[in-house]
Amino acid sequence: MGDYMSSDGEYYYNDYEDDNGDYCDDDGGDDSLVGFQALEPELLSAYANLPSIKVITKESLLAAQKEDLHRVMDLLSLKEHHARTLLIHYGWDVDKVLAVLVEYDKDKLFAAAGVQVLDDHALFPYQSSSSTFTCNICYDDVSGNMLTVMDCGHYFCNDCWTEHFVVKINGGQSRRIRCMAHKCNAVCDEEKIRQLVSRRDPNLSEKFDRFLLESYIEDNRRVKWCPSVPHCGNALQIEDDELCEVECPCGMQFCFSCLSEAHSPCSCLMWELWSKKCHDESETVNWITINTKPCPKCRKPVEKNGGCNHVSCFCGQSFCWLCGGATGKEHTNTSIAGHSCGRYKDDHEKKRVLAKHYLERYIHYHNRYKAHIDSFKLESKLKESIMGKINILEENLSTSKDFSWIINGLYRLFRSRRILSYSYAFAYYMFGDDLFKDEMSKTERKMKQNLFEDQQQQFEANVEKLSSILEEKFDTYSENDILSFRMRIIALSVTTDNLCRNLYEYIETDLLGSLQRTVQRIAPYRSKGVEKASS
Ligand SMILES: [Zn+2]
Ligand SMILES: [Zn+2]
Ligand SMILES: [Zn+2]
Ligand SMILES: [Zn+2]
Ligand SMILES: [Zn+2]
Ligand SMILES: [Zn+2]
Ligand SMILES: [Zn+2]
Repeated sequence: MGDYMSSDGEYYYNDYEDDNGDYCDDDGGDDSLVGFQALEPELLSAYANLPSIKVITKESLLAAQKEDLHRVMDLLSLKEHHARTLLIHYGWDVDKVLAVLVEYDKDKLFAAAGVQVLDDHALFPYQSSSSTFTCNICYDDVSGNMLTVMDCGHYFCNDCWTEHFVVKINGGQSRRIRCMAHKCNAVCDEEKIRQLVSRRDPNLSEKFDRFLLESYIEDNRRVKWCPSVPHCGNALQIEDDELCEVECPCGMQFCFSCLSEAHSPCSCLMWELWSKKCHDESETVNWITINTKPCPKCRKPVEKNGGCNHVSCFCGQSFCWLCGGATGKEHTNTSIAGHSCGRYKDDHEKKRVLAKHYLERYIHYHNRYKAHIDSFKLESKLKESIMGKINILEENLSTSKDFSWIINGLYRLFRSRRILSYSYAFAYYMFGDDLFKDEMSKTERKMKQNLFEDQQQQFEANVEKLSSILEEKFDTYSENDILSFRMRIIALSVTTDNLCRNLYEYIETDLLGSLQRTVQRIAPYRSKGVEKASS
């Protein structure tokens, strides 16, 4: 990308389009919009139909569930409650149901899920009969209209069934309430459950229905509740790979896989460890243990100054830094008069040096991680001032009124800033001892780290440049200055986008991709940022 810039710092740009046109993310950022508009209409609509993220609201939940239910009901000529049982068992994955059906047969498919489709001829003749039956649970004799028979053919008195259902619903097991008969795997008919339970407690029947409805989200690999607090009421549904970052209409951006904030290019595990480490006070505690020692007399922490192992406390007490034992004042650089702590020395000092090394390493990465978060916070305020400047320009300029390129540049900055920040947490684990110590030799690790840092620094330099350009007082520029300002912003945005994509490629292919013992994947880079869910 170096050819965008001539030696005197002027930017040349061969492509006047902004990098944020509404096209596919996988396009190189330097594709021209003109070229894109020339594409066949079919291709355009293919882009529009790319896998997208759907919002499921409280209102649309029922419809979404019904849609899948009806697909299975039509396909297998099933009743709704059988289709539901089947789908709950297969995590609401209609394709999976089809795959099992193709590979085995209907009977196996049904048996595995506990679906019993009763043969009409085998129906229990209780309704036509006036005689009494014995319930095999309570051993009461009841008349035919006081008992209920399930699809599996087992019957019990209504009181026993109701008791069974109440216990299961209250225990949070509404989704698959099985028959009470010994070793019977059949799932009870939800309509019969509803009837019996609502007679005793209408609220409980409602609770049962809610559980069934929410199963569509809770048992579904592709649907998850938005983790916002307080909860916005939405769930998001993805098309295929769980490893992606999504944005709920409420504004919450999160990792679909682990439900914490969007954290790519850190893997979910890295992010979990990192956020824990950052919140953990133990690092501070660590600092105190490494850098201070309690005085043997007054117990106040004393800091070591210089290389000498003889330290003295404010209270006047001298002591040996290595073993913490009280000593006299008289000492040389290598020994304290009348004191020897011999064999402790090596081990203790080694541990201290190692702990200090780990701590300093963490501080190094954390400082940079934090610095970019701080910049991000400052830059968030930039949008307002930029909008103000655009308003001024719009009044003064006679020609172009389209300033979307500035806003696009600003969003590019926001996205890059966040990725940059997280890339330090990534590097902390990638090149540290916590996760991949045995995956790489020291030389290999060092080499890869150097290559990574080269790319990271280039990316970083461009982000900073973009940041400073966006702060220019462009509202005072002449029309010609605006033209060159526009070119610089667009060129930098494109370069930054490309550098970021390269960094991801290096992470995915050369770093994480080369691991032998561990599988760590990250949400892929999206030039346009976290994907927004739509209804
Ligand atoms: Zn009974
Ligand atoms: Zn049964
Ligand atoms: Zn939300
Ligand atoms: Zn995650
Ligand atoms: Zn003291
Ligand atoms: Zn000294
Ligand atoms: Zn000592």
